[in-house]
Amino acid sequence: GKGAAMVTAVAYRLAEQSKQISQILSEFRLTTEQLLEVKNRMRVEIQNGLSKSTHESATVKMLPTFVQSTPNGTEHGDFLALDLGGTNFRVLLVKIRSGKKRSVEMHNKIYAIPLEVMQGTGEELFDHIVHCISDFLDYMGMKNARLPLGFTFSFPCKQTSLDAGTLVTWTKGFKATDCEGEDVVGLLRDAIKRREEFELDVVAIVNDTVGTMMTCAYEEPTCEVGLIAGTGSNACYMEEMRNVEMVDGDDGQMCVNMEWGAFGDNGCLDDMRTEYDRAVDDLSLNPGKQRYEKMCSGMYLGEIVRNILIDMTKKGFLFRGQISETLKTRGIFETKFLSQIESDRLALLQVRSILQHLGLDSTCDDSIIVKEVCGIVSRRAAQLCGAGMAAVVEKIRENRGVDHLKITVGVDGTLYKLHPHFSLIMHQTVNELAPKCSVNFLLSEDGSGKGAALITAVGCRLRQELNS
Ligand code: BGC
Ligand code: MG
Repeated sequence: GKGAAMVTAVAYRLAEQSKQISQILSEFRLTTEQLLEVKNRMRVEIQNGLSKSTHESATVKMLPTFVQSTPNGTEHGDFLALDLGGTNFRVLLVKIRSGKKRSVEMHNKIYAIPLEVMQGTGEELFDHIVHCISDFLDYMGMKNARLPLGFTFSFPCKQTSLDAGTLVTWTKGFKATDCEGEDVVGLLRDAIKRREEFELDVVAIVNDTVGTMMTCAYEEPTCEVGLIAGTGSNACYMEEMRNVEMVDGDDGQMCVNMEWGAFGDNGCLDDMRTEYDRAVDDLSLNPGKQRYEKMCSGMYLGEIVRNILIDMTKKGFLFRGQISETLKTRGIFETKFLSQIESDRLALLQVRSILQHLGLDSTCDDSIIVKEVCGIVSRRAAQLCGAGMAAVVEKIRENRGVDHLKITVGVDGTLYKLHPHFSLIMHQTVNELAPKCSVNFLLSEDGSGKGAALITAVGCRLRQELNS
């Protein structure tokens, strides 16, 4: 009768709808062949960044860091460290002891950087940083100590020594004026002088990947790679000096800050980017830049999800076809929400309550779809990141000329630490794509701050050796 016909019509509509939903999501499912392709293309870009003849036009910049060895345990002293460019801005005091009682003690305070400071003038940004240092020194009672300082600055910098680095371009949420093309250490020193309140000895500028690698290497000497999967995405590793063509000398090694977030900026990943990736890129602070980072890192995954949800709502598959103000708001799906939504221990009712909390009124069916969207976007991110890492460890294996390589990667970042599946999927992808390498991932606790202090300690030692 009539009832049965209606049921059939509804069933048909639902089947049609779920077909269309899986069609939208299918573009995010990468095959092993595609991932191998990503790994191979990363290998090509690595080479372009390292070679003098191609460096200028290369997208993956492979920036020399002037860190030439991992820690050896003799580092010691009291150091100040700054950590700018991740989820939190922090000022730290790091006390390193060497010898039998080898230990690292840390005190730190987190400070907010208001949006208008992140995107105001460079002078305001650096004045704010120095204001926070001043507060911290008061808090620790160390205003008169003239401490050596290591500056973890998690942006691409062209370094000419340990304590000089020109900002190539802002990434993530930063856009302060008059900083790009400037020496960041100079900007910090100037701001310290302007304040006329205390002195500091800025010894090193350090990328967060390098800090993370150094921190892990302090405990585990086989660690020669650093990885950040957080707000942004990047890696560094110890490269042979003979391959670091941008720096003279052929002996030994140097840590290279890959700046792999820019992978794809020459279009080499376009066949794998979806319309949602392009939408996220177009609406970002830096359109056309950091394309790989925009597919892999915490700052953008939620945005990809949001763009998919908007499209599905427009098509009437979600939220009763109503696009709420909340859904139109950029940045609502932070890493911590994605992580909660994807947690296996969470009942759908709880997913709905998280969405409710964000201001999204969902039905049970909605929450199932949202969870599926989050899962597919973060899986692709983990796989892409793994494909990049597979290229790195394979490069190191070839450098060594060995059939099999055992290596440790130091990792940090909110996505890696908070997300329930990212780390596992990433590890599996590396294993699958780099079968000749056994890769051990070591979580770095407080990597950037501690690492900056370790690098600063080495810098101080080298300086003393030069002067004596
Ligand atoms: C920056 C890198 C940094 C990474 C992780 C990227 O946006 O360009 O320098 O290492 O984020 O924080
Ligand atoms: Mg960080």
